[in-house]
Amino acid sequence: MEDPLSSARALLHSVFGFNAFRPGQEEIVRAVLDGENVMAVMPTGSGKSLCFQLPALVRPGLTLVVSPLIALMRDQVQALTAAGVSAGSLNSSNEPTENTRVLGLLRRGELRLLYVAPERLARPDTVEMLAEAGVSMMAIDEAHCVSQWGHDFRPDYLTLGNLARQIGGRLQTLAFTATADAPTRGDIVEKLFAAPPRVFVRSFDRPNLRLAFKPKERSTRQVLSFVQSHKGESGIVYCSSRRKVEELAETLKEAGINARPYHAGLEKAARDANQDAFQQEDGIVMTATVAFGMGIDKPDVRFVCHADLPSNVEAYYQEIGRAGRDGLPADTLTLYGLGDMQLRRLQIEQGDSSDERKRIERQRLGALLSLAEAPRCRRQTLLAYFGEASEICGNCDLCQEGVELFDATIDAQKAMSAIVRTGERFGMEHLIAILTGDLTENVSKFNHDRLPTFGVGKDRKATDWRSIFRQLSAVGLIAQELMEHGRWRVTDEGWEVLKGGRRVELRKIVAAPAGKGSRRDR
Ligand code: ADP
Ligand code: ZN
Repeated sequence: MEDPLSSARALLHSVFGFNAFRPGQEEIVRAVLDGENVMAVMPTGSGKSLCFQLPALVRPGLTLVVSPLIALMRDQVQALTAAGVSAGSLNSSNEPTENTRVLGLLRRGELRLLYVAPERLARPDTVEMLAEAGVSMMAIDEAHCVSQWGHDFRPDYLTLGNLARQIGGRLQTLAFTATADAPTRGDIVEKLFAAPPRVFVRSFDRPNLRLAFKPKERSTRQVLSFVQSHKGESGIVYCSSRRKVEELAETLKEAGINARPYHAGLEKAARDANQDAFQQEDGIVMTATVAFGMGIDKPDVRFVCHADLPSNVEAYYQEIGRAGRDGLPADTLTLYGLGDMQLRRLQIEQGDSSDERKRIERQRLGALLSLAEAPRCRRQTLLAYFGEASEICGNCDLCQEGVELFDATIDAQKAMSAIVRTGERFGMEHLIAILTGDLTENVSKFNHDRLPTFGVGKDRKATDWRSIFRQLSAVGLIAQELMEHGRWRVTDEGWEVLKGGRRVELRKIVAAPAGKGSRRDR
């Protein structure tokens, strides 16, 4: 008799048409076939779906796939059906005939994969039906949706652990996600699994992508010269507004570049035509809002430029990740200015999310700003954010060009002593008010004007201090508690600096334009 892994390999060719596993897939498939509960953290595009689809076909019985994204569900069901697999989905946007087809297959025990939206699964009739039909395995896609600290919290995900028990006692459970920092990972394990699962984490490193950030000076020129340095190559230029998308497309066209705009405000026909051209022709530069990208599967995108700061680290990573899918060198450049930072902050403050959510969004933005201002290897800083330790890369602007540094030991000690003297219980703006001697309501309320630290950082503006905090965070001397009101604490390494045993070098702070950015974003 053939062992399950050999059957999996055979199906990899015959059903999916692939020659080999991608890195990481085989170990996961093997663990799943061994009956283990699994949590897999893998970057987008690395081939997560195969890790549950393949075992679902090797093992007998029905695999339930929970996914919050109806469009992705539909794509996967279509692809599986086309490959001759009996698959279906239950969700609110199905045609009634589709539901009838799926329920029929289910009742006859012929269905192998059933995709369900979490809110549909929360319905008692669905649970009952599945318990009756028998389910052998549950795969949860986008598992970070279970975490309130994630950027995509779905309350219905919280009940999945319980539902698994109702549907099938000790139902084998698999959780997949592309984004999970340490607290989110902890949440996934706690909320979806009764006992700790086998954990697989694929590296987020994309060594073929060159990383670079530049402060905005004359941004249109900066974009133009970056694009011109990639003559004839396909690339994407992301902008934060539709107007800018159109303007930049014009500017690039005038310079003889084959540029096309893409944003949600364009007629669907024009949008589709531009996307098709980008996908099929060589050397097209798409100027686009973030509406462009989902479902783009072009392997030879040679560069991604952010004409404006992305909204947070995750967005940045996804967006640059569209370059160099073929593994060949690709170039990225992100421009950022004080205006961008303020715009992104304002978008968070004026959005209608809960206070807790806003705090998390602020921190994710802060992490991106830390990356923009990192004093050392950008890749190392980025990977550290995803919880991954790495060596310096030699393939980022900071490794290659360096950056002007200054001895920031005293500044670092001031900032850290403000953190420590207030009991590691406060957020950045309050700490900065103390440092700059700003007698705010909260400073008075907590008597923090009586601290020896009060006003010791008067020589610097609040914007400078923000940069210092972000840089100290980027190099790991201070850390922000994601779950506890965004309070800052001093790390073990930070203590070495505080006790005077270690020097700190930070990047020179470029003076902010006068009158901007000090009180507004409080
Ligand atoms: P993710 O869910 O991780 O973003 P997908 O599961 O959608 O990624 O897979 C991304 C792409 O990679 C899909 O087009 C898929 O067909 C392809 N793919 C997955 N596994 C393999 C493989 N072993 N060989 C070749 N292509 C693969
Ligand atoms: Zn580097």
